[in-house]
Amino acid sequence: MANTYDYIIVGAGSAGCVLANRLSADPANRVLLLEAGPRDWNPFIHMPAGLAKLVNFKSLNWNYSTEPEPALNNRRLYWPRGKVLGGSSSINAMCFIRGHRSDYQDWAAAGNPGWGWDEVLPYFIRSQNQARGSSDLHGVGGPLSVEDLSFANPLSEVFIQAAEQAGFAANRDFNGPTQRGFGLYQVTQRGGRRCSTAVGYLRPARPRPNLTVLTGALTLNLELAGDCVTGVRYQRRGMIRTAHASREVLLAGGSINSPQLLMLSGIGPARELERVGIDVRHDLDEVGANLQDHLDVCTLTRCSQPITYDQLSEIRVGLKYFLYHEGEGTSNIAEAGGFLVSGRGRDDRPDIQMHFVPALLDDHGRNRLPGDGYTVHACPLRPQSRGRIGLHSADPRQPPAIRANYLSEPEDLEMMLECVRLSRAILNQPAFKPFRGHEIYPGNEVESRQGMIEFIRAKAESIYHPVGTCRMGSDERAVVDPQLRVRGIEGLRVVDASVMPSLVGGNTNAPTVMIAEKASDLILGLARARPRAAEAEAA
Ligand SMILES: Cc1cc2nc3c(=O)[nH]c(=O)nc-3n(C[C@H](O)[C@H](O)[C@H](O)COP(=O)(O)OP(=O)(O)OC[C@H]3O[C@@H](n4cnc5c(N)ncnc54)[C@H](O)[C@@H]3O)c2cc1C
Repeated sequence: MANTYDYIIVGAGSAGCVLANRLSADPANRVLLLEAGPRDWNPFIHMPAGLAKLVNFKSLNWNYSTEPEPALNNRRLYWPRGKVLGGSSSINAMCFIRGHRSDYQDWAAAGNPGWGWDEVLPYFIRSQNQARGSSDLHGVGGPLSVEDLSFANPLSEVFIQAAEQAGFAANRDFNGPTQRGFGLYQVTQRGGRRCSTAVGYLRPARPRPNLTVLTGALTLNLELAGDCVTGVRYQRRGMIRTAHASREVLLAGGSINSPQLLMLSGIGPARELERVGIDVRHDLDEVGANLQDHLDVCTLTRCSQPITYDQLSEIRVGLKYFLYHEGEGTSNIAEAGGFLVSGRGRDDRPDIQMHFVPALLDDHGRNRLPGDGYTVHACPLRPQSRGRIGLHSADPRQPPAIRANYLSEPEDLEMMLECVRLSRAILNQPAFKPFRGHEIYPGNEVESRQGMIEFIRAKAESIYHPVGTCRMGSDERAVVDPQLRVRGIEGLRVVDASVMPSLVGGNTNAPTVMIAEKASDLILGLARARPRAAEAEAA
């Protein structure tokens, strides 16, 4: 039957492209990949610095906003999400970070056997093509290229020097033996171009006759026969169609859309579904719950020298990039950063992450401030507040209700205060002296605790790492089991950032790729404890 596949993957994002590649590697598997957004033709996707322009392309982005956030002056926070081949890996800042090894120990201890550090490391290694070469912690030959930045603004080095002057160590590899310290980020790029999962995983698999990729295909809901998922209904070019899955449907729509799709299909908290008139097929209370995100606070300083990215000639940058693939166009903008231990945590793993941007970045770059400046982003890595994805309506074309519930736990506010304090401690070091103008945000005049709290409530924003809304676990309340199968439903898994039981200490793209790598082995029945060396060789 033309519209019957072995596997249907919903969403061609960070996870979905990995699945499409790995599952279609066996020509016997017929695989359908459905993506709501378009192909990744826009050149600003591929030129790394183009990410600053991507906020203007509404068609590549779901452009979500949260509901009014009570602890943030009832502001609706902007939540960009990629809606294009590659998903958010096509619009993200390319920082390559795996998190801390103890994050995965936490996952395993929370009832997820098989997801401890030793078990997930082989999948990180398998996914990677590390330009520095292979080691115990890095792989070569994998689809996801990881490189050093080919160009960095001199202010990024100044930031690292200032962090050292403030007493923090330098670190050349945040994914090496120690995460702690300051340095330049490695980036998911290949030869100075973005390496999204659409580039790294999907592109080489596209010619396979057993893989069908449909863009502009919005999945509306899952088709169920009793407790068994039989396929999906999707809309494309104004037509509604059904595709059937003889084996499994794999939801890879991301932390917002995957729980929304489950709920639209009658799988979720009964009260929420009934409220919007959806028939309950399976009452699963935690669908959409356990939402966690990194809340970020920016310190912006005026730069007294015109060396930032604020006033670059876009034509010159563009020409240099498109002719030679070099220069500022290859920058991921958030070039340098660091991992710090605040001292407030229960252990000595880093609990704050910083990103340094040699430009004035206000309101996600949507508010262009005049002049030159630099920005330090800082976020607590393991917030305690939990939110929820809910529904406004039973219409799949309507955005879901995002309630992040930021700062609902008092400790999260204390950590945000630490973020501002530590950002300033670095920015006030001698290394910045030749460049330091006045502080724009919070502003030199803001010194008191109360003033700082008001600043955080007025200006804190997401740094784009929502996870946890289809939580993996062994307990009955978990949405998926450790094999990522939706509890109580046959033929359905969730494979994306939403399954993370808790937020990792770092950016979330590489961990999502790892989840999809491991999921593909689980789906194909290959997962077993393999010695690390053999795993790397197989890659
Ligand atoms: C602006 C930004 C900057 C970031 N910077 C970094 C960074 O520097 N480093 C890092 O590690 N992480 C970063 N992240 C986070 C990281 O990119 C995400 O955690 C990761 O991409 C999530 O992967 P995913 O597969 O869960 O979802 P996504 O990659 O978002 O993929 C979901 C896909 O499903 C599609 N989809 C959803 N619903 C449907 C439907 N109903 N029908 C069909 N298709 C559907 C979407 O269009 C999308 O393509 C950033 C994210 C953003 C948005």
